[in-house]
Amino acid sequence: MHVQRIFAATPVAMMSQSQKLNSQNQEITKNVTNPIEANSSRASQIARNYFLGSQMVNPAFTGFPCSTSNFRVKELEDMPCTCCGRPMMTNKQIDEFTLKAGRASGAELNQVLDDHMDYFRAEEKAIVHYIQKQLKDMPDATLTTAISRKGADAGQILKDEQIDVVKRTSEKSKELLGENNPIQNLCERELKTTFGLAADRKKAKSTGNFNRTNFLANIVDLEHKKGIKHENIHKILDVAVQIPESEKIISKMITSYGYGNSDERFAHRLIQKAVVTAEHIHPKSKGGPNATDNYMGECQECNGSRGNMSYDEWMKKYPNMPDNIQVHADAVTEEIIKGKIGGNYDDYPVDLKAAVASETQGKVVLTVKNPEEIEQAREERGLTKPTADAKEKANAAGAYQGSYHGLPETQKSGKSGKKHHHVVRFPEAHQTQEVKEEQAA
Ligand SMILES: [Zn+2]
Repeated sequence: MHVQRIFAATPVAMMSQSQKLNSQNQEITKNVTNPIEANSSRASQIARNYFLGSQMVNPAFTGFPCSTSNFRVKELEDMPCTCCGRPMMTNKQIDEFTLKAGRASGAELNQVLDDHMDYFRAEEKAIVHYIQKQLKDMPDATLTTAISRKGADAGQILKDEQIDVVKRTSEKSKELLGENNPIQNLCERELKTTFGLAADRKKAKSTGNFNRTNFLANIVDLEHKKGIKHENIHKILDVAVQIPESEKIISKMITSYGYGNSDERFAHRLIQKAVVTAEHIHPKSKGGPNATDNYMGECQECNGSRGNMSYDEWMKKYPNMPDNIQVHADAVTEEIIKGKIGGNYDDYPVDLKAAVASETQGKVVLTVKNPEEIEQAREERGLTKPTADAKEKANAAGAYQGSYHGLPETQKSGKSGKKHHHVVRFPEAHQTQEVKEEQAA
């Protein structure tokens, strides 16, 4: 139920948008044959128009205008990322972790890190594993003291984590496919040849030259070469894509954020890539509008590193993405049924399907519930459709500015025991926030 349609609401913006999209369509049409001619669903209709250079591309975006910060999927906790499939965090969850991990030490810190292990993205998880090893010898260490001791070797931290993920991929394949399966064999070969890791040795040679893209492509190939069920390949890829590849990021974490920084700031850096962001399905740089149906929830890690890559390029990095968009759509639909994001999102799943089909040239066609099916699901469970709240109405009208979501006011004991204010800065994800510090026990 859209209060306002973006193009109806902003005719002037629509014209320039239309011109941009039209010239882009003409470029695309030169190279693309329509892959979905036979299908007559709404999504394929839109995709057909889109790729035949028709002006009809505009009706593909029918969602209401919405700034990325007001996209309400961002308020849902633990939604799986459309790209990597890992659980994402709201700003509130990020803040809670920041305060907890930033103020803990020793065994307590180790526990907080363990509790959040599913959220850390690849390079950060490598750092976390390293910190946990350090904590064994340093029972009182905080995050920054654990990372800054003994000149941590970024190359070795990367390698240790790569080996760990290859081993976990192997374990996952054993669990799903049994002993001596082709993926397990692939992992064993990788450990032996790339990492010089014989079965009974713990330390890898530092001469390995791991290629993440090839490793993932080899797993994907086995689906057809060895007839492994797609469903199992998907589950194994969800583990395998967690392999870090950047020594640079690890090194930066150690030197720029680990040394001389506050523990809270370092904690924030460790976790922030798990935050839900609004990904423009049709990139903004190519004329994609700021509208709900051109958004899908994606973690900051995936959103930030995709840049302007096409979906084909991007899927080499995350070959499990088509499956994960479906998993994400199902999870969001479930929250919509429960009324967790208000009354205006009932046709979001249908819109998402249309936008994704259009952008991927019909390669990714989701199975989603339409608004009637969502309503029916509510009836079956005795739930009622939520009415639009004030925030939602304002949001749909494009007027809602959002409330800043920073660190919650918390209690922390200052050294002097006096009440005072201090300023915490997280420029990457937050604005400046004054945190009132109060005397605490
Ligand atoms: Zn992701």
